[in-house]
Amino acid sequence: MPSLFVVGGGLFGSLAAAYARARGMESIVFDSGRDGAASPAAAGLFKESWAGRKLLPHYHRALPLLEQLYPIRALSLESAEGNRESHLFVPPSLILEPSPNRQSVEKVGDGWLEAGGRRYEGWIYIAAGVWSPQFLPGLEVIGKAGAVFVYPGEREGRTRRFEDGRQAIAFVRDPGTTYFSDGTAERDYTEEHERLSLRRAERMGLIEPSVRLWGRRPYTKGGPFFERIAGRTWLATGGRKMGTILGASFARRLVEEEIG
Ligand SMILES: Cc1cc2nc3c(=O)[nH]c(=O)nc-3n(C[C@H](O)[C@H](O)[C@H](O)COP(=O)(O)OP(=O)(O)OC[C@H]3O[C@@H](n4cnc5c(N)ncnc54)[C@H](O)[C@@H]3O)c2cc1C
Repeated sequence: MPSLFVVGGGLFGSLAAAYARARGMESIVFDSGRDGAASPAAAGLFKESWAGRKLLPHYHRALPLLEQLYPIRALSLESAEGNRESHLFVPPSLILEPSPNRQSVEKVGDGWLEAGGRRYEGWIYIAAGVWSPQFLPGLEVIGKAGAVFVYPGEREGRTRRFEDGRQAIAFVRDPGTTYFSDGTAERDYTEEHERLSLRRAERMGLIEPSVRLWGRRPYTKGGPFFERIAGRTWLATGGRKMGTILGASFARRLVEEEIG
């Protein structure tokens, strides 16, 4: 059986590789660690109601894969009014390919890719987030950027809605720390956005972050994008704010329907 070579070790690529391996295929992930990759900054939350009617089929396709491969946690966040909001959650650290091949993929074709001066042949899955148009000219991917902040110590999961309607969350994404995000997603991200996010965090009692993570969520017109672009080559992107669900749904489609 040919191997599956994946371009991009974010949520999309890592989920496809993990699922392919679970089904007995060999898979190698290439990720050159680009600044602005979305997945390391993701909170890892998902919820049926976020999918809306249009993306609901993705939610239902994704859940069995996530249940099979990862422990899905239930997370409860308390609002200022004392209400509780529940989410499902898989930390990106459990999903992201731990040691991808760090070479940059320079070229792809039908059933091959080139990286580090070498050619690899097999099934090719391009999951390069906002960098996907490099491999499919004409594909329009808009990056909406946001920064999140990580604070030392574990705090209770909380959510707060600010005057401008923006909702912020703070919870333990990774042990020993508290993750804060206010959902900022901007095409033109500026220092002012950063200052506002930090101010919102301060209002939730979070001061002096130890880590700043920044990522660009990939948006594609007309909804998430999955296409066989050549006989043995596929490209998927457009994870927007739902990378876990959409990445898992497309991983099933690739492995079960297209390759399998
Ligand atoms: C702040 C923030 C919070 C978020 N919270 C959530 C959340 O709670 N739940 C949720 O479901 N989603 C969330 N998202 C959205 C989610 O992160 C994205 O939809 C998802 O990460 C997109 O994954 P991806 O694999 O397509 O892209 P990316 O994560 O950007 O991965 C693409 C990878 O491709 C690599 N690459 C690119 N070109 C090449 C090349 N030529 N050669 C080798 N490697 C290459 C890059 O290095 C990169 O690692 C959040 C996003 C952000 C920014």
